[in-house]
Amino acid sequence: LVGPLDTLTIWVEQLQAAIASYARIEGLADVPREEPRPAADPVDDRIEVADVRFAYDGGRDVLRGVDLVVRPGERLAVIGTSGAGKSTLARLLAGLERPRTGSVTVGGTPVADLSPDRLREQVVLVTQDHHVFHDTVRDNLRVAKPDATDEELHGALEALGARWIKDLPEGLDTEVGTVVSLDGARAQQLSLARVVLADPHTLILDEATALLDPTTARETEQSLAAVLRGRTVIAIAHRLQTAHDADRVAVLEAGELVELGTHDELVDAGGPYAALWASWHGGHDDQDPRREPGAT
Ligand code: ADP
Ligand code: MG
Repeated sequence: LVGPLDTLTIWVEQLQAAIASYARIEGLADVPREEPRPAADPVDDRIEVADVRFAYDGGRDVLRGVDLVVRPGERLAVIGTSGAGKSTLARLLAGLERPRTGSVTVGGTPVADLSPDRLREQVVLVTQDHHVFHDTVRDNLRVAKPDATDEELHGALEALGARWIKDLPEGLDTEVGTVVSLDGARAQQLSLARVVLADPHTLILDEATALLDPTTARETEQSLAAVLRGRTVIAIAHRLQTAHDADRVAVLEAGELVELGTHDELVDAGGPYAALWASWHGGHDDQDPRREPGAT
């Protein structure tokens, strides 16, 4: 089993890496909730994390008995201090790691057992890293959907407002990275176009702190909103506004899920989330609600 599994893992890693992008996830707030995707099957989409323990390389457990059901179509924000295990959980949810004990399933199947095609349909992890290969725009995009037609590729770029493709000397045949280099915003749009092409039911956004200028940030937030529409979204949130706007919030602390509920429920509960919210909201009640505690 080791051979084929390894190959699958490498393939998936490559795909997931290629699909990686940035995320200023406060863009979540702009996503309309209507228009459920017709392809989404509620039973098939249900993600269940059951008593998951996970350790890197035989080290201590960095996830220590996490239970979580993600409902199809919901927007779940995951918050927690650095090192709490948020990115590890994201990797497990995306099938990039297997739990030491317990299970992570989608529609009842362990997510790490899904075929690459099935995985790509089900769940894609988006991180802050861009992966633009020294290759044509076409091949850069086809990583996410090998049989995509040029029409589909143009459609995905258009969905993100990436009009620059029309200005490239050879369109989709233009080699990027060598002949033409893509700036950060364009690289992000390319990454997000891959997500549109992969068209997964569930999108996991791991926090990104890409420091974009405000105009680019706003444009990309709008692009992200288009990508998120109608999907299940699990957002590793670095801004409390994201948690506030989500359907539910999960709070991780030292590898344990210590709170799970709606923003209002957690504020009423008076636990760690309530404290975090109070300290942040108290300081910024009439100004920019997107600012973090301590942000300048
Ligand atoms: P978060 O995303 O909440 O900051 P992580 O999931 O990245 O937390 O990390 C959880 C714990 O696992 C931390 O103690 C971190 O040092 C450790 N860790 C993360 N990645 C690795 C790795 N590749 N190898 C070993 N330990 C890791
Ligand atoms: Mg992290």
